[in-house]
Amino acid sequence: MKRVIVVGAGASGLMAAYAAASKGNSVLLFEKNEKAGKKIYITGKGRCNLTNDVPPAEFLCHVVRNAKFLTRAIYGCTPQDVKAFMEQNGVGVKTERGNRVFPVSDHASDVTKALLHACEQVGVVFRFSEKVEELSISDSTMSGIITEKGRYDCDAAIICTGGLSYPSTGSTGDGYRFARQCGHRVIEPLPSLTGVNLKGNDFTQMQGLSLKNVRLRAVRGDGKKNFFDGFGEMLFTHYGISGPIVLTFSALAAREQLKNFSLFLDFKPALDEEKLDARILRDFAQAKNKSLGNVLGGLLPAKAIGCVLQKSNVEREKKVNAVTREERRALVRTIKNYPLFPVSLRGFEEAVVTAGGVDVGQIDPATMESRLVKGLYFCGETLDADALTGGFNLQIAFVTGFAAVNAIR
Ligand SMILES: Cc1cc2nc3c(=O)[nH]c(=O)nc-3n(C[C@H](O)[C@H](O)[C@H](O)COP(=O)(O)OP(=O)(O)OC[C@H]3O[C@@H](n4cnc5c(N)ncnc54)[C@H](O)[C@@H]3O)c2cc1C
Repeated sequence: MKRVIVVGAGASGLMAAYAAASKGNSVLLFEKNEKAGKKIYITGKGRCNLTNDVPPAEFLCHVVRNAKFLTRAIYGCTPQDVKAFMEQNGVGVKTERGNRVFPVSDHASDVTKALLHACEQVGVVFRFSEKVEELSISDSTMSGIITEKGRYDCDAAIICTGGLSYPSTGSTGDGYRFARQCGHRVIEPLPSLTGVNLKGNDFTQMQGLSLKNVRLRAVRGDGKKNFFDGFGEMLFTHYGISGPIVLTFSALAAREQLKNFSLFLDFKPALDEEKLDARILRDFAQAKNKSLGNVLGGLLPAKAIGCVLQKSNVEREKKVNAVTREERRALVRTIKNYPLFPVSLRGFEEAVVTAGGVDVGQIDPATMESRLVKGLYFCGETLDADALTGGFNLQIAFVTGFAAVNAIR
């Protein structure tokens, strides 16, 4: 029986504590907040999209950074295992569009309850409102931790302190500090899965506009090749753009200079330029004496009409029978390629995850153990591994927490 200390009672810490104690180890879990799972509580808009019900190989396709590193861990604790774990601990789950798994109750707090129930069953001892300040290491081996209240000896310490996103939940990057202190490389943590600040203010008329079935492309510099090409939902905000396709772009571009990109929004991806032109001609034929602004209401959302006409250099009040062929062409081009100029990503306060973290090259992928310090483990968002939205990030937290105990017995 080993003395195991887990630092952080988020998704990875609770899973690691449960797994370590279920193997007969004595487990102490330190959490600086007064309760467990503050971040879990706000996941999936309060519903907690806890995993994605796909086979492990498909799961790995949604990992943005270091999928290869996660391969062994995900086969050791699959999305189906996580679903079964929740059911065994009293929380029914359901699968929605895109294989997203939620608790049947639609309450994220039930996921924390299931994890706490599992931990209690195997005797995990909790120390809430106790922040871990330092690690104690002798001869490159974990020997203990130091909190605000004292020193605790251990044979193994599992660091599950999360990343830097939504710091109000307790994830303030302490794990990166611990890692650096014992010689680990930490890949610069940056916000990921977040909105994009746009240049200028010509998009502000579209603030609050939520778009479905649109296409967003990102092109670097004046290159022709798409860096990103996404289809789905997005929305305009006071600072720029957000929503599912924008979050995906942000994850892929987390390490890029956004100023080097141009974004192109296609309001009508189902129609090519020729078909769109024919559609506009039909609309014009049915309303010859009406103004352009009015006629476009059938094609574009009201908030987008002014912006599109401005970019196409066509007057809103112009009667449709006076619109020239060139003007119509410009209109078609703008609807298919509305330009947006990104400046930067939103900050950690709004980012769903952190890109970057402890360099996985110094971590054993089978056990999450440090290759530099025996008995020291890093899990969840402390690691340089992150994924797209859809339940993949919580699954990464669960599988790395679960894998950590492979070596502790
Ligand atoms: C708004 C939002 C919505 C999200 N929705 C989803 C979703 O639906 N599906 C999904 O898969 N992912 C989602 N995510 C991402 C997911 O929540 C995280 O990737 C995951 O929770 C990370 O788990 P973790 O255990 O690594 O860290 P965290 O959950 O951040 O837990 C870290 C814990 O460590 C504690 N801690 C930190 N430092 C110390 C210290 N020194 N001493 C003691 N305790 C400490 C913190 O207080 C915290 O409780 C969402 C994230 C956000 C912000």
